[in-house]
Amino acid sequence: MSATKQKSYALQVVLVIFLIALAFLVQKVINDANPHEMTSISLGDKTAVAGSGNDVGNTSGKGNGSQSKAHIAEYNPYLTDLAVAPDWSRLDEYQYTISKEDFELELDEVYTIDAEWRKWIEIGDESALIRTSAEDPSKQLELFFASEVKQEKPAKYWRARDELDVKDATKPLFGINIVIDPGHIGGDYAEIEERDFVHNELPPVKEGDLTLKVAKLLAVQLEALGADVKLTREYLGPVNRNRSEDYSDFAKHKMNTQNSLISPDSLKRMSDKLFYRAGEIKERAKIVNNEFCPDLVLCLHFNAGAESVDLIEEEHFHMIMNGAYMSSEVARDDQRFTMLERILQRIHPEEARLTAYAANVFAAETGLQPYLYETESKRALNVDNNPYLWARNLAANRSYMCPVLFYEPYLMNGKDSHERILQGDYPGMRYLNGMLRPSIFREYVDSVTKGLVNYYSIRK
Ligand SMILES: [Zn+2]
Repeated sequence: MSATKQKSYALQVVLVIFLIALAFLVQKVINDANPHEMTSISLGDKTAVAGSGNDVGNTSGKGNGSQSKAHIAEYNPYLTDLAVAPDWSRLDEYQYTISKEDFELELDEVYTIDAEWRKWIEIGDESALIRTSAEDPSKQLELFFASEVKQEKPAKYWRARDELDVKDATKPLFGINIVIDPGHIGGDYAEIEERDFVHNELPPVKEGDLTLKVAKLLAVQLEALGADVKLTREYLGPVNRNRSEDYSDFAKHKMNTQNSLISPDSLKRMSDKLFYRAGEIKERAKIVNNEFCPDLVLCLHFNAGAESVDLIEEEHFHMIMNGAYMSSEVARDDQRFTMLERILQRIHPEEARLTAYAANVFAAETGLQPYLYETESKRALNVDNNPYLWARNLAANRSYMCPVLFYEPYLMNGKDSHERILQGDYPGMRYLNGMLRPSIFREYVDSVTKGLVNYYSIRK
């Protein structure tokens, strides 16, 4: 072999090695970029929150003392627990954006259950005078209504269906930013958050585990249809970095102000609740509203019937949209502010249209009967005479500043659902309770998907 030939041979060997190395590298990048692989979905899977980096929530689902805790506001009787006083000047972004008729109609028909709100909001011909402080009645803000002469667009991060472009007709959810919020925490926290159901010697059913399982399957499916999907949590642990003990000062302050008896038990119960409910939802809302800024949030839950030792025959389904604020809730400065922000962003009309599609498909796919609140209920309002649609003021559907689809199907302690849950996820159909059935998880996922596809495939 001549020297030149030897050189070119050596060069070829180097080139081949380089190409093999490159091929490995590309494969690794593809694998890494595809975290929602079906095979990797299991209840114990503990990955970071999608798209938010590792600084959000802990990845192990347990103690994370090394990360900084979230700031806890002082107890304030005029605010919801853990809330901070709102910056009312932000409502100036909505001057001249809503007509007097729409504003009044939403307050009367959707957002409140009685006329008490008029104590806080005085409607004039051209503007509304809004009380901004429960503590100081003299503090007010004037909000001007839109008119034929002046009509501005409200500021918001989410887009309604008609504001989305269709770029790929084969992918009906193309370009839609969706956040999936698997309700509750699950895992080791299921007991503390009172979201575990144990029947006889059977394995416990934990709502936070079930919702995560549905969320992961759903993410794969929605992404395949073109949506950009993120999860508020991808592990069986809290997003909130604080723990119960971090809230004990707040709890003490609150109980002292209310003159209630403080015992180790009552203090623990209140601290626990602040940790897993108010604190947890507050942290999720921060990520959703400040980082993800989605077009809609899907809040996934499993319902439970009245407590009983035995499994119950009942099964039902309903969906909840934000509304039906009680007078004590309108009286809280932060809730009154958020309610107004939702009204001014025109969230309800889009949320109601979306929820109607979602609920109709879900009911048809699952055959579940509607859950009916008592007609005299002070916490729920029926929406549009659809038995599946209810307005309620929940922390989760209030705090995400965009349309929220809040699902409440199946009873974890219902005979049929309980058996289906214990079967776990499986492909295809199984003969169960006298019928061929898909897994309860896939039925949930497919029903949510079809509802969204039905709604978004009718785009301008
Ligand atoms: Zn729930």
